[in-house]
Amino acid sequence: MREVSVFGDAIAYFNEAADLLELDAGMRRILTHPSRQIIFSIPFQRDSGEFEVYTGYRVQYNFARGPAKGGIRYHPGVTLDEVTALAFWMTWKCAVVDLPFGGAKGGVTCDPSTLSSNELERITRRYAAELVEIVGPDKDVPAPDVNTTPQVMAWFMDTYSMHVRQNMPGVVTGKPLEIGGSRGRVEATGRGVTICALDEMAEMGLQPEEARIAIQGFGNVGRYAAKLFEERGCRIVAISDITGAYYNESGIFINAAIEHAAKVGTLEGFKGGEKMTNLELLTGPCDVLVPAALEKAFTPESAAKVQAKLIVEGANGPTTPEADRIFRERGIVVIPDIMANAGGVTVSYFEWAQDRMGFFWKEAEVNERLEDFLLTNLRQIRAIAKLRGATLRTAAYTLAIDRVVKALKLRGIYA
Ligand code: NAD
Repeated sequence: MREVSVFGDAIAYFNEAADLLELDAGMRRILTHPSRQIIFSIPFQRDSGEFEVYTGYRVQYNFARGPAKGGIRYHPGVTLDEVTALAFWMTWKCAVVDLPFGGAKGGVTCDPSTLSSNELERITRRYAAELVEIVGPDKDVPAPDVNTTPQVMAWFMDTYSMHVRQNMPGVVTGKPLEIGGSRGRVEATGRGVTICALDEMAEMGLQPEEARIAIQGFGNVGRYAAKLFEERGCRIVAISDITGAYYNESGIFINAAIEHAAKVGTLEGFKGGEKMTNLELLTGPCDVLVPAALEKAFTPESAAKVQAKLIVEGANGPTTPEADRIFRERGIVVIPDIMANAGGVTVSYFEWAQDRMGFFWKEAEVNERLEDFLLTNLRQIRAIAKLRGATLRTAAYTLAIDRVVKALKLRGIYA
């Protein structure tokens, strides 16, 4: 397989929409450069007493529409290139759902499965302390991503608050409810995936009760999407995680899978479906396919064999540009990541707003507003796609770039 940078792939999507918008060269230059990239060492002490040094990153990509916003990832594969691509996507994701935020992302190159809770806390506090000057409710607001949890956000918020000597819940989102989190935040990304999918299925004439759904990844995004699809009467025929995939033509009972994962830590040994590989899940029989694991799930080889009619990108960057071209040629509809998984950042926005007001909403209010933000913008994207004869992805980038460019032009370039 060709080894190209994730950021390079991300720019390919940007360029397609920029061409459609006839964006001038200067604007393209500005928008394809991150505002700020930070790399730092995170020395910490193992429970054994040994010292270790990990590498931390924060990329603040763009501030035109507001404070930078984006998650923190703990994973062995975290690199500056990956974090930059993720920060780039956050810029368009916030703009596409019309949130008053720019884009950012952060990460630590580490394998959390080898770390104790105390070690994770020390790493998180050191990571937060390194960023004290450049994060804050009006500067940059982190959130959870792969392998970071509400507890990690609580440590981050506490460390920042101790440094600035006041309680600052609005410095991160995705916190536990007890310390300024929002109702509905934990499920929000998965909920957003199902809201977008069901709206597109209605557009395609696919009834929820008839739809067979396959979901790759059973973490925060995948498991809540699965649960909410099931609640809406859909049949989940396949689920997977890092240990492999599980297929059941008559439908997987999602609560049983959630209970199994809670007990074992993964889906390993799950008896509710026949074991298969993740590649078999991606290319197996289903109507709607939700990649909700990591980048580059679809390569040209797997894309050519996909049987789904609709792909809803729960993960960030699951489709390489070559695979995307194949989906387009094969008439497979793709709801792009920047729209499909924007539910999380949308409820993060609600959390940030609630923290600043000190007044918290009921869950029904959060979910109703989430649906409104997502459907208003998904339908706008669909209208742009129809008008311009473009894919939903290009239409989404077109809408997002147009909004960021308008803000940039109004603010001007300070020099
Ligand atoms: P998570 O760590 O909670 O879960 C990731 C899941 O993917 C785990 O079940 C893991 O076992 C599985 N996985 C990893 N590699 C795999 C592979 N090769 N094949 C199959 N499964 C694999 O992470 P998450 O928060 O659910 O994030 C998943 C994706 O969604 C990421 O791309 C993330 O950037 C994106 N996302 C997350 C949020 C959020 O609010 N958590 C918001 C927007 C986008």
